[in-house]
Amino acid sequence: MSELEGIAAPGDGHTLARVLSRSASLVQARACGVLLWDEEKNDLTSVIPFAGFEDEEIRQFGFKVPNSVLGGVVTGDRPILLDELTGSQPDIEFLKKLNVQNLVAVPLALERRVEEQDTVERSIMGVILAVDRYYGRSFDREDARILNMMARSASAVLVTSQLYWKEAERRRRVVRTIESMAVGLIAVTPNGTVQQINAAARKALKVKTEDWFGLPYQEVIRSEEIKAICEAALASDPVKRTEVTLPGYEGDERVYRVQSDSIASEKGGLLGWVIVLEDVTDIRQSEKMMAVFVDMVSHELRTPLTSIRGFVATLLQAEKGTFDYDTEQEFLQIVDTEAERLGQMIDDLLNIARIQNGRGLQFNFTSCEIREIVERVVRLQEAYKNANQELVVDIPDDTPPVVCDNSKITQALTNILGNALKYSPEGGKVRLWVEQKDGGLVFSISDEGIGIPPDQLPKMFSHFFRVDSPESKSIKGTGLGLWLTKHLIDGHGGRIWVESEYRKGSTFRFWLPLDANEALAAEEPPGGLGSGAERTRG
Ligand code: ADP
Repeated sequence: MSELEGIAAPGDGHTLARVLSRSASLVQARACGVLLWDEEKNDLTSVIPFAGFEDEEIRQFGFKVPNSVLGGVVTGDRPILLDELTGSQPDIEFLKKLNVQNLVAVPLALERRVEEQDTVERSIMGVILAVDRYYGRSFDREDARILNMMARSASAVLVTSQLYWKEAERRRRVVRTIESMAVGLIAVTPNGTVQQINAAARKALKVKTEDWFGLPYQEVIRSEEIKAICEAALASDPVKRTEVTLPGYEGDERVYRVQSDSIASEKGGLLGWVIVLEDVTDIRQSEKMMAVFVDMVSHELRTPLTSIRGFVATLLQAEKGTFDYDTEQEFLQIVDTEAERLGQMIDDLLNIARIQNGRGLQFNFTSCEIREIVERVVRLQEAYKNANQELVVDIPDDTPPVVCDNSKITQALTNILGNALKYSPEGGKVRLWVEQKDGGLVFSISDEGIGIPPDQLPKMFSHFFRVDSPESKSIKGTGLGLWLTKHLIDGHGGRIWVESEYRKGSTFRFWLPLDANEALAAEEPPGGLGSGAERTRG
């Protein structure tokens, strides 16, 4: 990896400094130093100390091998002599800033005799570089030859002092640690080039390029908000803590807590900025969920309860004969319906809680008559439709029984049918029909309501998703019903989808296999749950 800082020699670095000073004086150079090659990242970074330059001057001398001139020394395993510095490659640019006029660089290689094969194994460690020959002259091949000899001493020093191996190992460990962190991390230099962007950050920001090292952050990061945070940091105005919402991978949105901070060198100088992204989506969702629970318990559950208590109290307080038999039956029917609605709401809440805390839904598959389920759902929903709404149901007589979880399919149909009525406030026809298809049944529920804008259709079954349109604004809801419904249908090995024309109406459909046990067994690897077992999915 390339860190922001040059690699520090262990201890006081005196031995290396001596070898480098001697090399500088032998080739009559202003400065002489070593750059180590990180094979994994394919970059070269200066080692501190660098004879002839101050540590601070050389500390940020690091660049990618492919785009650089000195990289050619490593890849070609050959010396390079430059009489003048003309290119705009990052290493040349850097040296120009230090007023370097000319240079000679040779490979820094480690040679090891392999006795059994009587060969010499040569592994390139980096580059030894001398700059600015005294007396206005350029370096020549003789200087390269001398430097080559000194390279052997330098590599020996590096190896005997174990700097190279220790450093390589330390770097590898640091990279692995940073790479595997759950928290996203971006490090940029004070002039805005990316030095590090770990896997979590690349994923969060959907970074496409693999060659991000050394690029300006604007070319690597596309999120305007994160770019603004980088910009603020570079203007020495770090963001202490903020939250940014970024698009996820499943049409969802992820919330990140973002913070930026400076990276200081040991001497207190500014090496760059680090931006940390922490995914707090789950925390925010739990908080939202808690609020929904409190809201549902305090409002929605109370509505049927109030109605039940009202009718029961009326019947209890009435003197004998106040109500005729039919009226009493009607009251009791309402109490029954409301009690069932209350039960379904509680089931919804419990199922949502199960999925949310990762326990998964429990399914109990038995053979069910679809007509019975649908009629029960429709009877309950009849009570909530307005005067302009018409409910039309069509279940062909030859519809076969289905092995499914009765209460879960009841719940799914109730959610979809409830939405069809809720989201067609102006009225119209709500139709529910069932057809046989592909070894299962397709349930379709259509309405002539407010419809869904096409760009929002892919997100319909996401957690907490609510359509953002003027028509839906005034209609209350939690954005959990369809998300739960998808889990209920998926848990049967089925699938759910939606078609809609904005402002014209929507059709929600789901396909259910004739036998959920068989469908799931076909999905599962061998050795999965046997048929008939109670399943947990979520
Ligand atoms: P909610 O509690 O908000 O109704 P749902 O998960 O059931 O939650 O639905 C998610 C969103 O999908 C709703 O907020 C609504 O915007 C939209 N929606 C659901 N069903 C329909 C429908 N039949 N017509 C139009 N929009 C719908």
